[in-house]
Amino acid sequence: TGDSRQERRGVVSDVRNVIIIGSGPAGYTAAVYSARADLKPLVFEGSVTAGGALMNTTEVENFPGFPDAIMGPDLMDSMRKQAERFGAELVADDVVEVDLTVHPKVVKTVTDTFLAKTVILATGSGYRELGVPNEKRLSGHGVSWCATCDGFFFRDKDIVVVGGGDTAMEEATFLTRFAKSVTVVHRRDELRASKIMQDRAFANEKIKFAWNSEVVDVLGDNQVTGVRLRDVNTGEESELAVSGLFVAIGHDPRVELIKGQVELDDEGYIQVDSPTTRTNLDGVFACGDVVDHIYRQAITAAGTGCAASLDAERWLAAHE
Ligand code: FAD
Repeated sequence: TGDSRQERRGVVSDVRNVIIIGSGPAGYTAAVYSARADLKPLVFEGSVTAGGALMNTTEVENFPGFPDAIMGPDLMDSMRKQAERFGAELVADDVVEVDLTVHPKVVKTVTDTFLAKTVILATGSGYRELGVPNEKRLSGHGVSWCATCDGFFFRDKDIVVVGGGDTAMEEATFLTRFAKSVTVVHRRDELRASKIMQDRAFANEKIKFAWNSEVVDVLGDNQVTGVRLRDVNTGEESELAVSGLFVAIGHDPRVELIKGQVELDDEGYIQVDSPTTRTNLDGVFACGDVVDHIYRQAITAAGTGCAASLDAERWLAAHE
């Protein structure tokens, strides 16, 4: 309420053991582990997107432990409850500013300031969207951002992949294991992908190319039935009947908050001292998709979330 916010306003004096920023599989797993280690973690979940990327999907079939699959939001709700059960304090608020270079570390929301001995960064990454009508509505119903996650649903189907980089070629090639055909839609008349990835795609009989083309709409009531394409040179539009649309135009790690403080790698993701989750700042750890541009799976995010909690726990023990 407004009143309780008023009471909390200003610097909150107790110094927390650990503050976790982010609420996807990485953040919640770090919360479960640090709560069970009795560190009483404070977790900022985000005001709009609490639960992370899996809140936008339907069935998750590759998270171990769910032989009959689980809906993305149900999986995240279970992780959340599990963290809460062991005493994690969950706050559906955005962290808007941090100072991680001082001790204790400072974490601010719009209304409050919090202090912590350690901070775990688990802010994830955002998949770039095409920004066309019906893309969001049909997400999880034929529109996907992850071939590893969803390729299996498209056995003997026709699919479109949008993009011209390495990821797009990798996704297109992977999808040919299941699909009847994969059409790569690319705005230009040549690919950005590395030569080896291009050669592999060109040699694959199931992969076709729609050059100088862009997807301008996704068609279908409850499930994707096609895409509308536009020729970028002539402006001519056409429809292509497909059951799936894979968007592979990149993703952006959420690092605005910590830019200039925490070291990033060449691709803009948080640099950690692998195989640990340590960043360049003492007592600051990072996990999940804000670090990982290779695997990008819920289970790998959860795995590194666990590691971050154990790293923070050891850091605290060493600094007692
Ligand atoms: P995220 O899940 O991205 O969560 C980070 C969250 O942190 C944000 O959503 C937000 O709530 C919070 N946050 C960010 N910044 C702040 C801030 N400043 N203050 C407070 N909170 C903040 N993977 C699979 O393994 N299987 C699948 O079937 C699968 N399907 C997918 C389907 C879709 C549509 C998408 C987009 C992804 C899918 N993935 C799947 C990938 C998987 O969702 C990600 O790899 C995983 O969610 C990454 O977890 P994370 O915890 O690192 O980050």
